[in-house]
Amino acid sequence: MGLNVIMMGPPGAGKGTQAARFADGRGVPKISTGDILREMARDGHPTAVDAKARIDSGELVDDATMIEIVRERLMRPDAQRGFVLDGFPRTVAQAEALDRIVDERKQGPLIVVDVAVPEEELVRRLAMRRICVACGVDADPSVVGDRCAKCGGALEQRSDDNEAVVRERLSVYRRSTKPVLEFYRKRPTFRVVNGAQPREQVARELDAMIDDAASVKAESL
Ligand code: AMP
Repeated sequence: MGLNVIMMGPPGAGKGTQAARFADGRGVPKISTGDILREMARDGHPTAVDAKARIDSGELVDDATMIEIVRERLMRPDAQRGFVLDGFPRTVAQAEALDRIVDERKQGPLIVVDVAVPEEELVRRLAMRRICVACGVDADPSVVGDRCAKCGGALEQRSDDNEAVVRERLSVYRRSTKPVLEFYRKRPTFRVVNGAQPREQVARELDAMIDDAASVKAESL
């Protein structure tokens, strides 16, 4: 049975970093819908070019487009042993569609982890955040140079990481994505990690929580 993980949490919670580390460690792909959209936009893909204004203003791209992107991605061979989703689902409609996709494909239970961080801390982190243009990894805030410690790529601020757009993304999160947590909360495979701790501590707790959730017996799901 594959390890199918959804990394939830507000923008800036560190879920992308944790998702990448976890996926690397377990040999499953990290599927980030934000990365996919940015890559499609760079390649001039019409869907992403149309969506660019929404992405740049912090609004959500429509559900039908996002569900199709994820459906297609989860069909690829590398996702059959499991995956870590980062940035999807962001609406209850997306979460319902994801349940249908994994059911159809008999891809096993979803393990949902909420990386929780207080809002004031998120605004502070996002304003400082820099991302590697080559590998998509967030630079550790202590890195002073402009090169990625992992692959040597250039570090840049994301165009939607300025304070006005950050506030809009947080308000979209409260409005559309928090209800997704309620959608999952009662499942025996739902977990919450305190994302306001140092990265390494969050990573340790996440590993333990995911292994624990993976051991939940199929009968109780
Ligand atoms: P992220 O890198 O996850 O913060 O995503 C960047 C932007 O891409 C978001 O602010 C949205 O405009 C768009 N986006 C990414 N994933 C989704 C999704 N699941 N549903 C709707 N829009 C999304």
